[in-house]
Amino acid sequence: LRLGEIITVLEDACPPGLAAEWDNVGLHVGDAGSEVKRIVVALDPDAQALERATGEGADLLVTHHPLFRQPPRRFTPTDPDAARVMAAVRGGLAVYSMHTNFDSITGGVSDALAERLGLEASRDALVPEGAKKKIVVFVPPDSVDKVAGAMASAGAGRIGDYSECSFRVAGTGTFRAPAYAHPAQGKAGEFNEVQEVRLEMVLPSERADGVARALLSAHPYEEVAYDVYDVAGTRSEVGLGRIGRLKPPQALSDFAVYCSDRLETPTVKYAGPSDKRVSVVAVCGGSGGGLLEAARRAGADVLVTGDIRYHDAQKALQVGLAVVDAGHDGTEAPSVQALAALITGSLQAAGYDGDLAVYWRADPIFKPAGG
Ligand SMILES: [Zn+2]
Repeated sequence: LRLGEIITVLEDACPPGLAAEWDNVGLHVGDAGSEVKRIVVALDPDAQALERATGEGADLLVTHHPLFRQPPRRFTPTDPDAARVMAAVRGGLAVYSMHTNFDSITGGVSDALAERLGLEASRDALVPEGAKKKIVVFVPPDSVDKVAGAMASAGAGRIGDYSECSFRVAGTGTFRAPAYAHPAQGKAGEFNEVQEVRLEMVLPSERADGVARALLSAHPYEEVAYDVYDVAGTRSEVGLGRIGRLKPPQALSDFAVYCSDRLETPTVKYAGPSDKRVSVVAVCGGSGGGLLEAARRAGADVLVTGDIRYHDAQKALQVGLAVVDAGHDGTEAPSVQALAALITGSLQAAGYDGDLAVYWRADPIFKPAGG
């Protein structure tokens, strides 16, 4: 089988178009015309995995995490990314990554995690792909293009294939600025009526912070009035995180042990009252600290993910959400194992027989003290 044919099968199952814009997915190293006889599937394309794959006589290493985000500027062994590229080339190994696109698909990272934890009815994404917000800001007429341009560059105003979509309507804004202020329009210490444009644009939910920052830096006012609204009706089964039910419910401390058993990872910690009854469970494989608010809004009792920061855990506890941190690799391992099965299954369905893809789980990076 040629690498190019395998890539077609992989991309049918997991379209690269679902990846985040900052991500680097797809073929990092390799020739689409080359022959592939054996595939190793692993979480990370690290030195260990590269060695393992070449040792097994593999021609292709498929990983969740990319070989590099930004391409190396030079290929010398002192650059860690370049060293791994060089090792792959030396070993005759192609490297292909399915990262945030694999997070989002049905049957992807969080689905596999939900399934491993035995959650029921867990098809809904916590942050559905295509969930949109609307941002509305009031701008003086001569700054509208600048502010709209900054928001568009940060990801606002895309509708289908159209970009820089906005709606603008002129009106009157009023304000009274304190005597010590320096208003861009009108006078300090007086009641002012100024001409403004109400500028509105749609944006993907996950871009809201970046668009707000872009808007604030392009806007001439000292105090900027803007609003961000949720746009209803965008629930879907594609997107980050999943939410489901644990049956029967468990006490939080028991549930943390249960996660450790199910995920076969010894380094699990939790935050929240140990006797809290856990029934609605939100999950996100990898670093899901950014989904705490979404989990709370979805009515979760607990969020299971990795890489939870101290202050994020504190915020979660304040709003009544417990967290279980089962590690970045611990929460992603079930999906990488599922990915190997998916690749073998897809290739068999495409007419190839044989056990082509093998899953390899690296030792966890973090180990419990004394373990
Ligand atoms: Zn990850």
